[in-house]
Amino acid sequence: MADFSAVTLWGVLSAGVAFAVGAGLWTFAEYNIHRFLGHHPRFRGNIFEKEHTRHHSVGNYFAPAIKKAGAAILAAILLGGPSVWLLGALVGGAFTLGFALMYLTYEGLHWLDHVHPGWTPRMRRLRRHHFWHHFGSPKLNHGVTTTFWDRVYGTYAEPGVIRVPKKLAMRWLVDDRTGAVRTEHAAHYRLQ
Ligand SMILES: [Zn+2]
Ligand SMILES: [Zn+2]
Repeated sequence: MADFSAVTLWGVLSAGVAFAVGAGLWTFAEYNIHRFLGHHPRFRGNIFEKEHTRHHSVGNYFAPAIKKAGAAILAAILLGGPSVWLLGALVGGAFTLGFALMYLTYEGLHWLDHVHPGWTPRMRRLRRHHFWHHFGSPKLNHGVTTTFWDRVYGTYAEPGVIRVPKKLAMRWLVDDRTGAVRTEHAAHYRLQ
């Protein structure tokens, strides 16, 4: 019995570590997909780049959910199959789940960055990191869920005042009555 519970505890601990590694791996993939598939001239013309260029050039455009779901299912098969085969159902499954949940966190967070008005101060800083990429310097600040990989790769920039073209303005940024930047965002954003 003692052995059995020790194995179970080890299994649970391994699954926890695998889950965290899977989540971390997504943030690494997020950075590289965005920086290289999305912005590097060598990979121009791929499906992600086309959708991503549109995300940059059309205000608050996101790729259709069906395309994202297709990519996510493909990734789950390519990642989940081998990891369950190599690591077993518990650890391999936890690894894949960590990756998948962090991917969904990324999708949710990125969407909220563009459409949602309220954030904690910490989240507002992370959001400025993303909008500095959009409107300040598209070669920098590729991370959405974390600034970590930008710091590792040397593509991190502290966001300055973000100058947002009027036609690309996020709804939460603009006061509907005056057409100007809402006062709570005025220190960090300008319309142009
Ligand atoms: Zn964006
Ligand atoms: Zn981009």
